Amino acid sequence: MASLGYDDTDLIPGQPWRVHDSRRPHPRIVTPAAAPGGPPSDAVVLFDGTDLSEWESARDRGEEAAWKVEDGHLEVVPGTGNVQSVKRFGDCQLHLEWAAPAEVSGESQGRGNSGVFLMGLYEIQVLDGYDNPTYADGGAGAIYGQFPPFVNACRPPGEWQSYDVIFETPRWDEGWLVEPARLTLLHNGLLVHHRQEAMGPTGHRDTSSYASPHDEEGPLMLQDHGNPTRFRNIWMRPLTDYDAE
Ligand code: MG
Repeated sequence: MASLGYDDTDLIPGQPWRVHDSRRPHPRIVTPAAAPGGPPSDAVVLFDGTDLSEWESARDRGEEAAWKVEDGHLEVVPGTGNVQSVKRFGDCQLHLEWAAPAEVSGESQGRGNSGVFLMGLYEIQVLDGYDNPTYADGGAGAIYGQFPPFVNACRPPGEWQSYDVIFETPRWDEGWLVEPARLTLLHNGLLVHHRQEAMGPTGHRDTSSYASPHDEEGPLMLQDHGNPTRFRNIWMRPLTDYDAE
């Protein structure tokens, strides 16, 4: 039988394992989706195009989400309020796809505005940012009111776009912040934030802070900003057990 490693090599500095250690535990097996962008076998699927069973009203918790499901996508029904996942998440990997309305209406923050709120608190802006000037920290892919994306990777209105997010929650120790929230985002496959430290939960016309510690987990929330933005293929992977040990 072929050697599956070594037990006579040097220890890797800072680790309990030797180089190529035959006793080192292996990563668990996860089956990727058949097509790129689909949910892998360990994903929590929040929207697969069929129903809103994983969602609720954000302003009336426990009440049904009132957005429209049609042709495999989810659409904001303006005036019904934000929706959020029933499940709660902390550190996570998120994939979702969105499309601004094909029929262009409004300008700046009034065009195709929605938002993806990690933990219900940290907004990644969703906006029709294609040939639509607005303030930089409110463009599509911005950590709203804090950091513009590295580049504007928007597709034209009506076309599907992807967000892939790695989110690390803030940590407090007895009320003192020890780690800020960190956010990595790929917009249509382009890196637009790289472990960016958020300054606190996002806000409108307001600076942010970590003055008030919040829960360790929260819902994924999607914003009703008065525009019929669409979403599809929404899945999460909680990042709690990715260390093979
Ligand atoms: Mg928004």
